[in-house]
Amino acid sequence: EKQEDININEVIDKSFILFNKDLSSKNIEVIQQLSEDLPLVKGNVIELEQVFINLFSNAENALKSSSKKQLTVRSFHYDGFVVVEVEDTGCGIPFDVKSKIFDSFFTTKEKGEGTGLGLSISYKIIQNHKGTISVQSEEGKGTKFIIQIPVLEDT
Ligand code: ADP
Ligand code: MG
Repeated sequence: EKQEDININEVIDKSFILFNKDLSSKNIEVIQQLSEDLPLVKGNVIELEQVFINLFSNAENALKSSSKKQLTVRSFHYDGFVVVEVEDTGCGIPFDVKSKIFDSFFTTKEKGEGTGLGLSISYKIIQNHKGTISVQSEEGKGTKFIIQIPVLEDT
């Protein structure tokens, strides 16, 4: 598939457009803290958009019945990696569920609501970018997904 030099901030912007949900009408406050001088990464825009759209969709779902509704997206450069954090103030992930969320077909959603494929596909996509995806979550407080992709080395 097509590999290009990518500014992750542009992928984040495009992903919000493709996600195409009026989050403010659902009282969800979107906070974007995107570093203005990010180094580029090597990768596939379409695949990375898929990852972010799924994270936004999961966050929207997690925020449904929480009183504080914030979705924060951060990007920054750290230690040879471009880091993107997608954080919500939603329901959080129970401890026994956390170890399964990256498994294919694992879902806690009602039949017909979720395929349980989003995070397993995201995991593979980030792996293909030589990166990592991890999660921190606290029940009743919220969830943060952390993606790290190696900075494009100049050759
Ligand atoms: P699906 O969205 O189809 O259920 P995913 O692979 O995207 O599949 O997510 C798997 C499961 O991980 C979800 O069903 C949910 O239980 C949990 N999960 C993912 N993201 C979040 C989140 N932001 N907050 C709470 N739970 C989450
Ligand atoms: Mg999903």
